[in-house]
Amino acid sequence: MHILLMGPPGAGKGTQAAELKAKFQIPHISTGDMFRAAIKEGTELGKKAKSFMDDGKLVPDEVTIGIVRERLAKDDCKKGFILDGFPRTVDQADALEKILKDLGLSLTRVLNISVPASDLIERAVGRRICKKCGATYHVKFNPPKKEGVCDACGGELFQRADDTEETMKNRLSVYEASTKPLIEYYEKKGVYTEVDGRQAIDKVTADLIETLKG
Ligand code: ADP
Ligand code: ADP
Ligand code: ZN
Repeated sequence: MHILLMGPPGAGKGTQAAELKAKFQIPHISTGDMFRAAIKEGTELGKKAKSFMDDGKLVPDEVTIGIVRERLAKDDCKKGFILDGFPRTVDQADALEKILKDLGLSLTRVLNISVPASDLIERAVGRRICKKCGATYHVKFNPPKKEGVCDACGGELFQRADDTEETMKNRLSVYEASTKPLIEYYEKKGVYTEVDGRQAIDKVTADLIETLKG
């Protein structure tokens, strides 16, 4: 099961990837998570990515494609993966084709979580993430039992530096210009399915799983 999860920033990709990972026991590969981990560790990769992320711009393809190529070559990806947040440009999608071809793999399905732009800023600004286990919450739509504390592990919740209204405006225009064209790209390949991401989290999960069965 080699799945690509698409959707605008704040659509619910990370939330749904966690569900699919638990259900299918395959790795969740998020370029955003990889960059954030690198920034935290202070690596060269983190230094390269930080200013782009802070501005809500895309990290350049030559950096991004390399880390995905390395990650997908690992053994745990043979039985499947959930790719989240990559590709974000047509050039990245072309590069992914080549990477998968070299590995003898192909995409089972491209799932697009569709959410109107008008909902996305509220989703991102209210997003909270666990420092310890990475679980995602929302102050209004998916609050933890105790404010600021992760239900799963008791870790402290934090807000991403780029989850501000201002940065989200940039991220949404980058999405429109660079990432949205991928819908047509994957439609043409016959692997594309759209799921209504305005529904409750568990309903979106059910729809994604239904699509993967069909
Ligand atoms: P979201 O979950 O809100 O869509 P991500 O965590 O996927 O955000 O990405 C956060 C930021 O990391 C992006 O705004 C961008 O700067 C960078 N990033 C993540 N994935 C990519 C990618 N495939 N190409 C370029 N930049 C990326
Ligand atoms: P992405 O990875 O696409 O940027 P996330 O999974 O991090 O999105 O979700 C963004 C925010 O929206 C989080 O705070 C999450 O709890 C919330 N969220 C996710 N799915 C839904 C949903 N179906 N309805 C309402 N809020 C949601
Ligand atoms: Zn936690």
